[in-house]
Amino acid sequence: MACTRPPSAPRSAISNVNETSVFLEWIPPADTGGRKDVSYYIACKKCNSHSGLCEACGGHVRYLPQQTGLKNTSVMMVDLLAHTNYTFEIEAVNGVSDQNPGARQFVSVNVTTNQAAPSPVSSVKKGKITKNSISLSWQEPDRPNGIILEYEIKYFEKDQETSYTIIKSKETTITADGLKPGSAYVFQIRARTAAGYGGFSRRFEFETSPVSVAASRDQSQIPIIVVSVTVGVILLAVVIGFLLSGRRCGYSKAKQDPEEEKMHFHNGHIKLPGVRTYIDPHTYEDPNQAVHEFAKEIEASCITIERVIGAGEFGEVCSGRLKLQGKREFPVAIKTLKVGYTEKQRRDFLGEASIMGQFDHPNIIHLEGVVTKSKPVMIVTEYMENGSLDTFLKKNDGQFTVIQLVGMLRGIASGMKYLSDMGYVHRDLAARNILINSNLVCKVSDFGLSRVLEDDPEAAYTTRGGKIPIRWTAPEAIAFRKFTSASDVWSYGIVMWEVMSYGERPYWEMTNQDVIKAVEEGYRLPSPMDCPAALYQLMLDCWQKDRNSRPKFDEIVSMLDKLIRNPSSLKTLVNASSRVSNLLVEHSPVGSGAYRSVGEWLEAIKMGRYTEIFMENGYSSMDAVAQVTLEDLRRLGVTLVGHQKKIMNSLQEMKVQLVNGMVPL
Ligand code: AMP
Repeated sequence: MACTRPPSAPRSAISNVNETSVFLEWIPPADTGGRKDVSYYIACKKCNSHSGLCEACGGHVRYLPQQTGLKNTSVMMVDLLAHTNYTFEIEAVNGVSDQNPGARQFVSVNVTTNQAAPSPVSSVKKGKITKNSISLSWQEPDRPNGIILEYEIKYFEKDQETSYTIIKSKETTITADGLKPGSAYVFQIRARTAAGYGGFSRRFEFETSPVSVAASRDQSQIPIIVVSVTVGVILLAVVIGFLLSGRRCGYSKAKQDPEEEKMHFHNGHIKLPGVRTYIDPHTYEDPNQAVHEFAKEIEASCITIERVIGAGEFGEVCSGRLKLQGKREFPVAIKTLKVGYTEKQRRDFLGEASIMGQFDHPNIIHLEGVVTKSKPVMIVTEYMENGSLDTFLKKNDGQFTVIQLVGMLRGIASGMKYLSDMGYVHRDLAARNILINSNLVCKVSDFGLSRVLEDDPEAAYTTRGGKIPIRWTAPEAIAFRKFTSASDVWSYGIVMWEVMSYGERPYWEMTNQDVIKAVEEGYRLPSPMDCPAALYQLMLDCWQKDRNSRPKFDEIVSMLDKLIRNPSSLKTLVNASSRVSNLLVEHSPVGSGAYRSVGEWLEAIKMGRYTEIFMENGYSSMDAVAQVTLEDLRRLGVTLVGHQKKIMNSLQEMKVQLVNGMVPL
């Protein structure tokens, strides 16, 4: 080919970080050099966040599909280190690049990886083996990605997987005892850090020693006595432990090691009531196993599809009917997985069912089951006649009483309380992800793993590479991915605002960047029109910068219950003159101008007698006073209920006060 040249650099590279994986995508160079053989090469550098010095990443990073000769304009890097800064250079090359000694043509992307679960334990060694016990030791995972809090060892007799035992240990050794002589046992180990459990190791199989004929004759009585004594002691310990500790989860401390805890599972279920926690389907080695653990398989012939009602990320959402044996036919929603899906898409699609199937609450969308044995693959849930809450409210603007709206909010809070009790953080709570039925019952939906944010059109890439629905997300989750039930509470406050304003878009047409900046500077959404003051105060509480100061979901539920029981408390609306639409409220601590000192404030509310006590106990500034709780007042000796009320009401009033310094949008 005559007169061709190297290509220019690739353009518009974007990144998406998921724990320790990074996905890069870019568009081809503007100038291909007059050739059709452009390909891409990825250079990876690991950078020190303090010195800024970078070094080559080394061989542990895997590139999918490959590092060099990439024909497509995307690549995925996996097995990166957690909490590490990386620079990726995407270089465009063609057949004449080698001839050109000039500068490389690349675009670079900087990312920081997140916390990740530990990698699987890869080496397990057997130690002492007797006819009833097997001792094991293992090495810490290659990539612990944090401090290992404990290991979980799962074992079962070979081919008897439905009945297994789990031991927890802080050490890298354990002894499994009470085993059958001459039998093979399968062991799997996984590590847990603050980020959760890593994957299970591969299966390791070891055999207990056989009972020798002589020994069995000589000691035939002993094992029976030992076993019965052991069983007796264990039973007694379990009963005493249960009674003393009041724990309901039914596991006893294992005998030999105070650090070890042991649980027995039959058919994979712990049947004891009380403690239920959400299990991340990622922790299953085989995601198909998770689906079948938590979701019923439904025969496709039991389902009648009627019409398409929506579009999901993986395919159409339809309404239809389900007729299960011995039950009356009832309406359902059916999510389908479109044809031509990849294995990952199937896994992610069914991941939602694995999560939903673990929940059982009137305000959480109920999973009927899944169809995986025939195509199309489907997820069947209860049918919610009024569809998603944001669209429903927009369609019915101004049509409901305040009590009806508070009822909707109460339902959502109750569903969220259940999720937070289960240890599940939603991360994408928004009115568009709430479904509402013909009785106006609201249910939380849209569960997923990393996928949740992938398929949300509201989610935007942040500078740190994550994809986050900015307007609904707490500042600490945007800034450093601190997603917790407290960040869900922030989102809940935004949902309250959406509901009370009949589906208005939070922060209207402000850009995401402006929203981040305004919130960071202490500005908050103003009250929706005709909003009861108590509800707006609750929103402001949910939007406290300090996540520990936000109310918990159980407190929100009781607060809403109180308001519903006492509807006159909803009569006081946020003062119309102070509610200035199109302006944001500065949500700063009390005292930004109103009072110059604690003394002045207490005098003004005729509580001057407490000035000295306040000052002596460290409440010497209005900012410090802003943190005062009822408990604090009691501690300070303010025992008269009338005085407590006066002080708390004044504080609350100051918090909702609109101060000068509002910014136009
Ligand atoms: P999703 O993929 O879950 O966001 O669903 C897409 C759309 O389908 C939603 O916005 C709803 O309008 C509709 N939809 C999903 N699930 C249901 C359901 N259980 N009942 C009624 N409509 C639903």
